Amino acid sequence: MSKFKILITDHIAEEGLAILKADPNVEVTVKPGIKNNDLKPIIGEYDAVITRSGTTVTADLIENPGRLKIIGRAGVGLDNVDIEAASRKGIIVMNAPTGNTLAATELTMALMLAAARKVPLANQSLKAGEWDRKRFMGIQLYNKVLGIVGFGRIGSNVAIRAKSFGMKVIAYDPYIKKSKAESLGVKLYDDLDQLIREVDLITFHTPLTKETHNMIRKEHIDKMKDGVIIINCARGGIVNENDLYEAVKSGKVFAAGVDVFEEEPPVNNKLLTLDNIFVTPHIGANTHEGQKGVAVIIAENVLNALYGKSYINAVNIPFMKSQLSEELQRYFELTEQMAKLAAQIIKGRVETFNVTLVGKRFEEDVCERTFDTPFSYQPFTIAGIKGLLEVRLKETVSYISASYLAKDRNIEVLEQKLDVYDKFNDLVVLKIKTDVEEKVFGGTVFNDNIGRVIFIDNFYFDVVPKGIFLYFNNYDRPGVIGKVGTILGNHNINIAGFELSRQKQGQAIAFVSVDNPIGNEVLKEILKIDGMIDAKVLEL
Ligand code: NAD
Repeated sequence: MSKFKILITDHIAEEGLAILKADPNVEVTVKPGIKNNDLKPIIGEYDAVITRSGTTVTADLIENPGRLKIIGRAGVGLDNVDIEAASRKGIIVMNAPTGNTLAATELTMALMLAAARKVPLANQSLKAGEWDRKRFMGIQLYNKVLGIVGFGRIGSNVAIRAKSFGMKVIAYDPYIKKSKAESLGVKLYDDLDQLIREVDLITFHTPLTKETHNMIRKEHIDKMKDGVIIINCARGGIVNENDLYEAVKSGKVFAAGVDVFEEEPPVNNKLLTLDNIFVTPHIGANTHEGQKGVAVIIAENVLNALYGKSYINAVNIPFMKSQLSEELQRYFELTEQMAKLAAQIIKGRVETFNVTLVGKRFEEDVCERTFDTPFSYQPFTIAGIKGLLEVRLKETVSYISASYLAKDRNIEVLEQKLDVYDKFNDLVVLKIKTDVEEKVFGGTVFNDNIGRVIFIDNFYFDVVPKGIFLYFNNYDRPGVIGKVGTILGNHNINIAGFELSRQKQGQAIAFVSVDNPIGNEVLKEILKIDGMIDAKVLEL
């Protein structure tokens, strides 16, 4: 096995580097601060690149990705990585969002306390030779209402700490289950407007998205109580900077704590000019423990991914196959194989690809979309798209790139869940429409844990979609099958299995599994048999 080559383009904690260096199959190169011009010609020589925010991974940088399979970010934010470009190239993008959760949580608490007691100003004043105790009349946190917007890892950890201060904690996060907040004694509001009217302090812990950009503006601040405290340790721009400035200046807001800015480093930013806005230079993650945490997590997961073991925190894979139950994994494999089979049988250009999951077993959470992009489908759909496209595009298709490639080809992808379909309770159904025809393929997994294709349109059979098959469609008349057998025999092709299905109106289709490859000449002979409508060699 040739060694895995990993390039580190930033300063990451020694503990993470040590994990990589300790692996005898890994060659680590450290080039902190390398410029994109120097990186582009060599990036394809590496299996993985690990960075922090120092390298901006653009589409251009990874245009020729060579052997690059993973981009790892020792940290949370991926603003510096073009995730779509990486996905199109089948490159896994992963981060380490849990490593610095507590670091960011504790900075939030620090800014909250600093703002409530104006600690930095008091420090400044005393050091300037003043003894002005009246000026630093603070606000007590006990019994105050804290509103947390974004109740993920950091938001919920802030809640735990705030409760120990005796604060009443309420939260707004439309994407989490109510029970998660309730289990921490936090009331989850459905309406942000209602929450902002009730808070004494408010803190933001959402990602920066179209929805959260400028989610707090003047009209929102106006609805808050006078003397509110606002904290943003998440991402610059969640709270409108100009409106925050005006609100602090006017005294509507008692004080604010800001670790993150729309433009970083901030240039001519008015927030830096007011005494009652306490600012830090995006240091939320900057603790020794936090940096060690992200470096260790990214090193371990990059290695796991390179070795083909299960890993976490890939942001452009909407699911992990290993998270599916054993049984659903068999359905996942069946969907991919059945789509491969379908792609080889169906004629014309695919226009619509519809994946229908039938039965109660597909109700598990893991079957839902978990990834927030327009092309995020549930795992079975992605397996299906991959199988469908792989026949033509070969290894350029991966679970990561599949949905983007389908979009590029103008294939409309549809998903559906049903309780029953026809006479079946457990089924994956692929409906494929091309510019020429439409076909429906159905498959299931029986108790023996083996996935089988059980129908194509109205033809029912039992085919395990693995290996080489001769597939043919013929008029149901005597002699056709015998002739096929003779031709295969004449070419020393051994028949391993035979599955036939026919319809009353006189057509039949058959799958003949064979031990040896079937060449074009053999296929031509088969196509010439009287009564043969179509014949194909399927490689699955
Ligand atoms: P997380 O993914 O665990 O939680 C984010 C939460 O925001 C999720 O529960 C999500 O449902 C919620 N959310 C998304 N859109 C929302 C909306 N429109 N309204 C309300 N809630 C919404 O992330 P996390 O690890 O808790 O990080 C939170 C933020 O903190 C991220 O933006 C992250 O980049 C930032 N962060 C900053 C620093 C720093 O140095 N200041 C360090 C770490 C993390």
